[in-house]
Formats: sequence, C-alpha cells, structure tokens
Amino acid sequence: MNTNKKIPTPEEIEKEFQDFVQRKYGGNVRVVNATASEATPETQAEAPEPKKTFDLKFDLKPKEIKQYLDRYIIQQDEAKKALAIAVCDHYNHVRECHENPSAADTDYSKQNIVMLGPTGVGKTYLIRHIAKLIGVPFVKADATRFSETGYVGANVDDLIRELVAQAEDNLELAHYGIIYLDEADKIATPPNIMGRDVSGRGVQIGLLKLMEETEVDLRAGNDVASQMRAAMEFQKSGKVDKEVINTRHILFIISGAFTGMEKIIKERLHQSRIGFNAEVVSQTDDTARYFEDVTPRDFIDFGFEPEFIGRLPVHVVCTELEVDDLFYILKHSEGSIIRQYENAFHAYGITVLFSDSGLRRIAEKAIEQKTGARALMTVCEKVLRDYKFELPSTGVSEFVVTAEVVDDPDAELKHIIEDPDHNRNTVMREQVRRYEAAFYAEHQLQIQFDDEATALICKRAITDEKSIQELCDNLLESYQHGLNLIKQNTGQFTFTFPKAVVENPDQLLEEWIRESYTTKR
Ligand code: ADP
Repeated sequence: MNTNKKIPTPEEIEKEFQDFVQRKYGGNVRVVNATASEATPETQAEAPEPKKTFDLKFDLKPKEIKQYLDRYIIQQDEAKKALAIAVCDHYNHVRECHENPSAADTDYSKQNIVMLGPTGVGKTYLIRHIAKLIGVPFVKADATRFSETGYVGANVDDLIRELVAQAEDNLELAHYGIIYLDEADKIATPPNIMGRDVSGRGVQIGLLKLMEETEVDLRAGNDVASQMRAAMEFQKSGKVDKEVINTRHILFIISGAFTGMEKIIKERLHQSRIGFNAEVVSQTDDTARYFEDVTPRDFIDFGFEPEFIGRLPVHVVCTELEVDDLFYILKHSEGSIIRQYENAFHAYGITVLFSDSGLRRIAEKAIEQKTGARALMTVCEKVLRDYKFELPSTGVSEFVVTAEVVDDPDAELKHIIEDPDHNRNTVMREQVRRYEAAFYAEHQLQIQFDDEATALICKRAITDEKSIQELCDNLLESYQHGLNLIKQNTGQFTFTFPKAVVENPDQLLEEWIRESYTTKR
C-alpha cells in the first residue's frame, strides 16, 4: 500500500466528485452545494494576513437555482423562474467583471428586482435561500426606516455595514451581497397625497444613487464602533485605511404588497381596450393576475419616480397562498416549522405526531389571519404552548396533534394527560395512517383501513403486544403481491380494507383476486 499518497485538498475532492458525476450522468446532473461558495471566507480565515478576499465562483444555471428553491418554497413557480434568471444574469456579469475588470465598463444594466405580492407568501424566504445558495451576504430592511426620517444617507451606511457584518468582515465579499428592502410601496408618493412626497421622493432619489453606483464610507462619523476601530488602527500603524464599499455589484431587491396598484393596471388595460377596441386582456379580479401585466408606467402612476423604477427592470410576482399550500408547506417543505416542534418535544423525550387532519386544521386556521404562511407559526404557538409547558412534567411520552387538538387545545390536553388509554389509542390510529402512507410510498398502492378495521388493529396490537408496524406487516404479508395482481387485472390501485382484513386476511385477498379475474379489463 502506498502510504505516501498525497492527501487531496477539499477543492480537489470536489472537482473529482464533479468529474465523476459528469462522466456517469453527462451534463444532466450536477452537484449543487449551498455551502460551496461559503468555504472561501473560512479558508481565508486561516490565512495570516487580516485582509479577507473572495473569489466568486458562480457557475449555477437558472434551473439549478429553481430546483434548489423548490425544496424550501412551495408554489411561486413563475417567481422562482424569474428570480433564477435574473440572479444568474447578475452574478454571471459580476463574475466576468471579477475575472476581467475591463468588462465592468460595458453598458450593463443591473438586474435589480421589484417583488410584488401579499405578506407571508415567501418573498423574503426566496431571496434568503438564493443568497445562501450563492454564498453571498444578505441584508433585509424596511423601506419605512428611510421614509420616517426622509433621509437615506446614514441609514444606507447602516445597511452596508450590516452587509459587511453578514460577510464576517470580508469587505470583498460584501461587495457582492444582496440588499432587500421590504415595504417599498410605502415610499411611493401618489399624486394628491400631501405630506408624503417630501420624504418618499427624497428616499427614492437617495436609493437611486445607491442602486446605480456609489461609494459608501464604512467609517461614518456617527458610528462609534468604527471610529474607535479607526483610532486604534491609527495608534498601531500611524495611518488609517479608508474602508469603502462600492455598490456597483450589490443586488437590490425591493418588495411590497403594492395594494391599490391592481386598480391602476386594471384602468390602463380598460383604457387600452377602449382605445383599440380589443378584448379585455385580463378578466379576473385576482390581484396577482393584474400584477403579471405591470409596466413601469403603472409604478410611476402609483407614485414612483421614473428614474427609480427604471433601475428596477425585473418584476417578480408572488401569489397568495391557499389552504392546500399551507398544508403542503407544513407537511413537505424542507424548512417546515413542524420539525422545530418535533425537536422541541424530543428534547423532553416526547414524540409528537402531526396527523394530516391536524395539519389541515392548522392551515385552515392560519388562512383566516391573512398573513400567509407567517400565520402557521402563530397558530402552532397558540395551540401547543401549554403542551410544551405541561407535558414535560407528565408521564406522556407521545401524543398526536389531531384536528381536535387544534380546535380545542385545552380540553384535549386534559384528555391526553388524564386518560392514557385514549391517548394510546389516538397514537396507534395515527400510526395506522402512517403505515398506509408508507405502503403507498413503497408500492404505489393506496390502502386505507376503514374505521372498524383501524379500531380492531389497535385492539389487537394491545392484546398481542405488538407494534402497529409489526402487526400490519404480518396481516398484509401477501397483499403487496395480491393487490398488484388485482391492479394488473382491473387497473384498480386504491383499496379500502374492512375489518375482515384483520380477521381473515388471506380469505379476503383470495376473494378479491378471484373477483378481479371476472371483471378483468
Ligand atoms: P414575505 O412574502 O412577507 O416576505 P416571508 O418570505 O418572510 O414572507 O415568509 C415568512 C415565513 O413563512 C418564511 O420564513 C417561511 O417559513 C414561510 N413561507 C412563506 N411563504 C412560503 C412558501 N411559499 N413556501 C414555504 N414556506 C413559506
């Protein structure tokens, strides 16, 4: 064995792995690593010189970005696509400038973005994940922070300083960060509204400069910390380096609900219909559908300065989420808050099982609050707060969040604590539902034990001292094969099991198979 073999660097391993995937699957599969680009600052941290550098290795394609976003963000397909394209354009250009600084002189217009859509539908969440994937710092602020004072200067310095902090003091990396300004509709200055135009217009002009290109001095006079750092530096070296950030490559995203803009768009579409005697372009009252048609002119009519909106060429629309979406977010998204609750209870040795009916009730309650997915957390907190407080001090080791728990948390909590048989039964019923789901995932056969069958399984599990899984595995030993045969004969793939499946599983299956030959397609 050759023990002198050189140990590869992490970059070499990554390259070898990429090459292997490329050879095996061709150009169709690529490894997307959310932390790949973040590795550079860490590596740099070991270097002796204090000045951190950053090598932008952006090589993602729009589809890869969308696929990554799909793991965390439900719906918003059009928004994901538009963002993926804009972000690729931006960072490809930035990379070119990085590799070849003379490219920076070309007439490139930056892909700054306006995001339109109601609250809590994933606007910030999308951008946060994009920044994480690319490995660039991200800062979010409310545009109202400027409009309240009407003054952009010092506040903007703050944003840039936050960007530097997010980049762990890596100034170079901070140059490629993303600044996200929420509630941007609040800095619009609609005609006829007195008073707001003074601050709003000024804020737009201030931001305009920032979005184009300007140099922000990080050692602002009103920042005590940076002044002290400068003084110490001066003491040590007799000079102070100027710390400036050029905003040329910083990506700006402004977002808001833009309530009322749909009326402006509707009016314009209506006028063009009269003018050209054409069909109505959009007949729906759905705000998002109107937003899809938004033009710079609508933003101007809404109260934005033409130059300001001209610097925001990419328009991205996010749509309202429905009950099914909220349910899906809870059940399937990788960042689901359900995991947080599972972990929180797990810390006390308690297993919490969220039933589908429970999740659906949470989604239904959340939708009433009209704050999108944001309300999911509020509802869960309200429902489960006392459970978190009480259950760790009881003997309860598992429980189910059922629709009843969501509807009347107090009464159900009492029930769970005071009636262990009831609780055990509820847990077992949920385990039967999960067995059905797992059976479908494995065999693509949709099975469902009816109420009587479920009750009998739970009873049998207690008397036979078996787990639900073990019991069902035994009962359905021949079913995967048998049901597939029936599926072949008749095309049927959903099966409701009566209690006979528990009492005499083989006899029932034989009957079903026999029947399937008579009704064969
Ligand atoms: P906004 O649209 O107001 O910027 P956010 O993106 O901040 O809303 O959403 C608030 C939280 O709700 C997110 O942190 C995330 O947990 C959840 N969320 C919102 N929209 C979605 C979505 N489409 N898919 C998955 N989770 C979402």
